[in-house]
Amino acid sequence: MLEKLAELVYQQADAHFAIIALDLDGFKEINDTLGHDYGDLLLQAVTQRIVNILPENAVAARLGGDEFIVLIDKIDNKAIVETTAQNIKLAIIENYNIKNKHVYVTASIGITLFPEDGKTVETLFKYADLAMYKSKELGRNCYQFFNPNMLDLLVKKRKLIEDLRIGLKQGQFELYYQPITDLISGRICKAEALIRWKHPTRGIVSPLEFIPVAEETGLIKELGLWVAKTATSDLSELLALGAEHFQISINVSPEQFKGNDQWITNWFEHMQMLGLNKDAIIVEITENLLMENEDSIRIKLMKLKKHGITIAIDDFGVGYSSLSYLQKMDVDILKIDKSFVDDLVMQSNSRDLCRTMIIMARHLNIQVIAEGIETQEQKKILTDFGCEFGQGYLFSKPLPLEQFKENYFGFSIPNNQLLVM
Ligand code: C2E
Ligand code: CA
Ligand code: CA
Repeated sequence: MLEKLAELVYQQADAHFAIIALDLDGFKEINDTLGHDYGDLLLQAVTQRIVNILPENAVAARLGGDEFIVLIDKIDNKAIVETTAQNIKLAIIENYNIKNKHVYVTASIGITLFPEDGKTVETLFKYADLAMYKSKELGRNCYQFFNPNMLDLLVKKRKLIEDLRIGLKQGQFELYYQPITDLISGRICKAEALIRWKHPTRGIVSPLEFIPVAEETGLIKELGLWVAKTATSDLSELLALGAEHFQISINVSPEQFKGNDQWITNWFEHMQMLGLNKDAIIVEITENLLMENEDSIRIKLMKLKKHGITIAIDDFGVGYSSLSYLQKMDVDILKIDKSFVDDLVMQSNSRDLCRTMIIMARHLNIQVIAEGIETQEQKKILTDFGCEFGQGYLFSKPLPLEQFKENYFGFSIPNNQLLVM
């Protein structure tokens, strides 16, 4: 509808207008955690606020989901557009009271201008969207005017997708292992598998760059199965070196819990072929996945649990879940997010939060791993709080398998002095 209106405006001889694309940040999480009723009421409230602050020469429409478009016609300067974007941002961020619950949401906003930014309405919509994604990238809750540099980003992303496909075909990926240490005994009893991409021209590419793209394109399914199979093959090598009761932890993306569960079946077959016990495997999921209302996700989680796989909640404390929910879902391990560990020494509220998380988790019979430990001081505070396990650069960076084997299963160390529990 708005597109048609934009076409009409566009056909005026001296047309001068702006398109503002707007997407709510974290709306999906709100919808998933509080339920669709709340989500719908929130969208109505947001719509009302946008409409209330629009200038006379503007109209708004919801494109679907949590995306909105605003068209401002007959603009004689950029300032009015900027003021409108700023007002929308401020109106949205105000607290919402939905069925007596306080909800907080922000918006990422992208803006294009006609005639400066594009010659067709389609292009203007596309570029406004691109500018909106730039706002997301810059940390959300902000607005960006389109500029042609943003097209470079698009080109780079397309290249990354193409390279990822090639990388998968040519086996350019490798798993690194980072030890997880028992804080009391100092023994290494688990390790987290972390993927690395050995790009032929760029060198090692961080998962932070390519995992989101693999998720967006669905390539994560193939990549995720590769990770699961490779980690279990590597684990059986470690077990053969005498690492009794050793566990390998793998990261599983929320996207792998959507769609069918063929990958779990394939993975289990692989483990059976290796003669591997499933209780030697930890699957790390995000806390928001746990809060999803979808039955199909819960069924897959249950399937993993039923077969004896340990479930860990990664980056705990930054999402929306609660400790009582962890118990309800029968979670085994909680990994305290690095951000809390970073602030342990300087900030007393982070210390209080960590202590509470550890005490509560222990009370619920959930193991705790603190992530990103870099200093002795952090380690000491966590150990004093009763945290059982730690992971971080203080102990070791993630290492290639061979290096990991050498460091922790070194043949020079006699069997009875193995550092592994
Ligand atoms: P994560 O699961 O939270 O993994 C921990 C990240 O923190 C790793 O980054 C690790 O190298 C880093 N780290 C560990 N200790 C320290 C420390 O003391 N200081 C600092 N500054 N960093 C530390 P990495 O390997 O770059 O992985 C980043 C993220 O990419 C992971 O965060 C995880 O979300 C994702 N990822 C990695 N491998 C996989 C995978 O196989 N599958 C999926 N789906 N995601 C993966
Ligand atoms: Ca992890
Ligand atoms: Ca983590």
